[in-house]
Amino acid sequence: MIAYFSKVLSASWAICQGLWITLRYLVKPSITVQYPDEKLAPYERFRGALLFDADTCISCSLCVKACPSSCIALQNVMAPDPKNPEVKKKVAKVEWYSIDFGKCNFCRLCEEACPTKPKSVWHSLDYEVLFARREEMVRGWKKGFEYVGRWFDPKTKDWKEPERHLQVQSVQARR
Ligand code: SF4
Ligand code: SF4
Repeated sequence: MIAYFSKVLSASWAICQGLWITLRYLVKPSITVQYPDEKLAPYERFRGALLFDADTCISCSLCVKACPSSCIALQNVMAPDPKNPEVKKKVAKVEWYSIDFGKCNFCRLCEEACPTKPKSVWHSLDYEVLFARREEMVRGWKKGFEYVGRWFDPKTKDWKEPERHLQVQSVQARR
C-alpha cells in the first residue's frame, strides 16, 4: 500500500514539475523566428555568398592562386605600352572577374589573400544563395556591375541580373 501511494506521489510530482516548466515558458517572450517573413542576420564572420568590387580590384591574381577549387578566373585590362604603343601590356585593373559557385567551398582563402583595403572579394552574410540554373552559378563582374555580379546568358549573349540573391541584407559590410 505504501509503495502504491509512493508511486502516485512521485508521478504527481513529475507532472507538476513538467507543468511548472510549461507555465514558465508560457509567459516568456517567444524566441522563434517566423522564417521566411522574419530573418536573423548571421554573425559578422559568417561565410555567405562571395561579393566582388571591380573598382578596388588590382587584378593581382592572388585570389586565383589561393583558391583550392580553381573556381576564380579573371582577365586584366590591356593598354598600349607607352614606350612601344604597338605592344599591349597588362594594367592593374580587371576587364572581367568570375567565380563558379558550383565549385566554391566557401573556404575564404580568396578573401584572406586579397591585398586591397577594403577587400575586393569578400564573403557576404547571405545564407540563402539561390541559383535558378547552372549558368547562374558562374557569377561574373565587370566595371560598373553591382557587388552581387551578373550571369552570362549564352542564348541572348548578354549579362543578366540575378533574380534571387542577397536576401539577408542588400549591402554587405566590407572587410
Ligand atoms: S571561398 Fe574558397 S573555394 Fe570559394 S572562391 Fe574563395 S578560395 Fe575559392
Ligand atoms: S580580388 Fe583581390 S586578390 Fe583577387 S585579383 Fe582582385 S585584388 Fe587581387
